[in-house]
Amino acid sequence: MRLAKRVESLPAYLFAEISRKIAEKKAQGVDVISFAIGDPDLPTPDHILQSLKDAADDPANHRYPETEGLLDLREAISRWYDRRFGVALDPATEVMSLIGSKEGIGHVALCFIDPGDVALVPDPGYPVYATGTLLAGGEPYYLPLTEENGFLPDLDSVPEQIAKRAKLLWLNYPNNPTGAVADIDFFERAVAFAKKNDLAVLHDGPYSEVAFDGYRPVSFLQAEGAKEVGVEFHSLSKSYNMTGWRVAMVVGNAEIINALMRVKSNLDSGVPQAVQRMAITALEGPQDCVAEHNAIYQRRRDKLVDALTKLGLRMTLPQASLYVWARVPDGMTSVQFASRVLDEAGVVVTPGPGYGPTGEGYVRLSLTTPDERLEEGVRRLEKLAGGWK
Ligand SMILES: *Cc1c(COP(=O)(O)O)cnc(C)c1O
Repeated sequence: MRLAKRVESLPAYLFAEISRKIAEKKAQGVDVISFAIGDPDLPTPDHILQSLKDAADDPANHRYPETEGLLDLREAISRWYDRRFGVALDPATEVMSLIGSKEGIGHVALCFIDPGDVALVPDPGYPVYATGTLLAGGEPYYLPLTEENGFLPDLDSVPEQIAKRAKLLWLNYPNNPTGAVADIDFFERAVAFAKKNDLAVLHDGPYSEVAFDGYRPVSFLQAEGAKEVGVEFHSLSKSYNMTGWRVAMVVGNAEIINALMRVKSNLDSGVPQAVQRMAITALEGPQDCVAEHNAIYQRRRDKLVDALTKLGLRMTLPQASLYVWARVPDGMTSVQFASRVLDEAGVVVTPGPGYGPTGEGYVRLSLTTPDERLEEGVRRLEKLAGGWK
């Protein structure tokens, strides 16, 4: 048996060392508390689950769905974008459902990347932008997200020959892992960059509804000209605690959506219709659950930031996303810090380089750890701060 080169091109699992240590600790009977995973711990709201139960009884939902999604869902998405962002979308050509946004983010590379083509990807960043590019035979070119630049890429610093070879620019705000946010002005600079270099902008925005202190993130599609050059990926996963159900959408430029539709209709048969009904209920039903979840995350954020500050880490208070991105004390690498809190407090944090080389010096903590576990974790970190250094 001989595997394809593209499988070999995939990066090694960067969390291997920490994973091994976690398994070792657990085997020793240590009660490990993990802040590593960005997967909402709260259940899907009841009214959304009820629509799944009702839809399960309808035989129309027992059959193959259409790749692009039910017209009812595409219309609900289009109404939601209008209500939430004042963005008008044609449900027939500018909206498509996805089996979770990860699926669309991975597959869209096949629409743009031929062997040797470049995709500009944020570093640190969600790993799928780079791995989708690699699987299509392309080369990711990393755009460093640094604290000095507010974790926004410096588009002017992309060398001209790279910009010429680039077919795609990936952006993600509110950002995973840094928690940074972008404004319309930044998105308009990205549109201008895309027009100048004849490339597409793919904005990944699953955290637009996960925000704190009254802050309201913007959509990339609110930027002037955005729809001429790009699309936005959005997901029900994080806003409605629906990671397990796999439903998301891509909206914006009709030509890009049509290309992705051509790829996907050859590979998958869409989102189960009963799950599409859940998505419709989520978008069109009462929205109190979103504010309730955000209040819980905000409380957790404040407790965690307090404890980390006592431990000597520095960070910007995130206004959105599910993450705290914290700078480890001087003289320590991300992995050294992560190993030490695991050894001395049984607490798991993710080393920044897992998201790209510029993540060195940082760790990521997720706000999706249940309250009692989070509080125990915070107690342990504060105790550790006493004898730290
Ligand atoms: C969670 C996440 C996604 C994937 O969400 P799906 O569950 O696949 O819709 C995409 N991008 C980023 C940055 C994420 O953090």
